[in-house]
Amino acid sequence: MEKPILYYSTNRRAEPVTFREALLKGLAPDKGLFMPQSIPALSGKEIAGFSGQAYHEIALAICRKFLHGQIPDSDLAALTLDAYDFPVPLEPVSGRQYVMRLDQGPTASFKDFAARLMGRLINYYLLQGNEKLLILTATSGDTGSAIANAFYGLDNIQVLVLFPEKEVTARQRKQMTTLGGNVSVIAVDGKFDHCQALVKEAFSDPELAHLRLSSANSINIGRLVPQIVYYFYAYSRLCRQAAEPAIFSIPSGNFGDMMGGVLAMRMGLPVKRLIIATNENDEFPGFVSSGAYQPIEPSRNCISSAMNVGHPSNLARLIDLYGGSMDEKGHISRMPDMERLRRDIFAVSITESETRQTIRSAYEEQRLLLEPHGAVGWAGLQKYLAQEEQAPDQLCVALETAHPAKFPEEIRSILGFDPPLPPSLEGIEDRKESSLAMANDYPRFKDFLKKNYS
Ligand SMILES: *Cc1c(COP(=O)(O)O)cnc(C)c1O
Repeated sequence: MEKPILYYSTNRRAEPVTFREALLKGLAPDKGLFMPQSIPALSGKEIAGFSGQAYHEIALAICRKFLHGQIPDSDLAALTLDAYDFPVPLEPVSGRQYVMRLDQGPTASFKDFAARLMGRLINYYLLQGNEKLLILTATSGDTGSAIANAFYGLDNIQVLVLFPEKEVTARQRKQMTTLGGNVSVIAVDGKFDHCQALVKEAFSDPELAHLRLSSANSINIGRLVPQIVYYFYAYSRLCRQAAEPAIFSIPSGNFGDMMGGVLAMRMGLPVKRLIIATNENDEFPGFVSSGAYQPIEPSRNCISSAMNVGHPSNLARLIDLYGGSMDEKGHISRMPDMERLRRDIFAVSITESETRQTIRSAYEEQRLLLEPHGAVGWAGLQKYLAQEEQAPDQLCVALETAHPAKFPEEIRSILGFDPPLPPSLEGIEDRKESSLAMANDYPRFKDFLKKNYS
C-alpha cells in the first residue's frame, strides 16, 4: 500500500499534514500555502486513455492520485460525478486554436470547477466527524458566488463572503446576495486586496481560533487539485497523436488556475508553453523578465476585475515549485530557477485598450464572443504566437473563465448587444438581495465575527 501524500507549508515552519487536514485548514499555521510533498506522475498510456472518459472520470483519475488513502475511490467517484454535471465546450476558432469555455457551471465562472469539488470534499469530511466550519472568503467577484453556491444548503457549514463594494458587477453581486440560508455577505468599502487582508488577519488572530475558520479561497489545496483536471480534459479531446505538445493560455489573477496548469505539466501533460496573461496588474510579467518582484499596491482597476490582483496569493506556490522561497508578504528569500521558469512559462500583460480591442476583433473577425478575462487570455496567446514561430498545426487552447453574460455592460459598449444569458443566470434579476455594508476596518470585522459566530 502506497503511503498517502503529505502536504507541507511553503514557509516550511509547520509540520506536513494529510490532505484532509490541509483541506480543512486552508492556510498553514505558519501562514504558508500547502503543497504536495510529491507530485504524482501519469503515464502516457493513462493520458491517452482519457480520450474515452467523461470529465468526471478524468477528475477522479487525477484527484485520487493526490487523495489516495484519504478517501475511498467509490466515495470520491460519487463526489466528482455530482460536482461535474455540466458541459465543457471546446470551441474551434481557427486552425487548431481553441477556446475552452469553463463557464457552464452554476455561477458561469471557471471557479465552479474548483469550488464544487472542494465543497463536496469538505462536507464529506465534516459529516464523518460531525464537525462544523465557518468558511471565510474574500472575493473580487467570481470566487464568492462560486463558493457560496458550492456550500449553499450544507448543514455543517456557514459561509461568510467579503467583496469590494465597488469592484463587482451587479450580476456578480446578485449571485452572492440572493442566496440567503447559510450564506452571509459583507460589502466592504475598499478593494479586493483589503478584503483579502481582513480575511487573512482573522485567520491568524488567536482570539478567533475557537471559530474554526477555513478559507475557501484560491489558496486552499482543495481548489488547486481540481484545477489540474481541465487541462488534461482539453488535451484528451484535442490531441491528434501521443505526446503532441500543447500551448495553453491562462488569464490570471491569483494564479490558482495557472498552478493547475503547472501541476498538470509536472504530472506529465505534454505542454509546450503555458502563457500567463495578466491585465495591467503586471507584477508577474515584470518579475519573469527582470527577476525583481514588485507587488502592485493598490491593485489597478481593470475591466477584467477578477484579475485585479497586485500580489497573487498563489505565487508563493509557483516560486516553491521552481526551487525558490517566497513568504506571504511577497519577499523572496531564495530565487527560483528562472531559466526553467522562463522555458515553461511565457508571461504577458494585456492593456485595457488591447482587451477591448480583442473583444471587438475576435467577434468581428471570427465570431468568437469573449468577455474581458477570456479576452486577456486570447490576446496573450496571439502575442505569444506573433513573437515565436510555430508549426502550422500547433495545438493552442485559450481558457475562457467566465460567461460573457456576466459582463453585459462591457460587451454592450464594445459590441453593441447584450450577450444571451446562460441557464444558470436566468431569473436572478428578480430575486431579493441581502448584504451588510462595512468599512475596511479590522476591529469592526472582528467584532462582527465574535458577535455572530461564537
Ligand atoms: C478568478 C478569475 C480569474 C483568475 O483566476 P486565478 O486563478 O485567480 O488566476 C480569471 N477569470 C475569471 C472570470 C475569474 O473569476
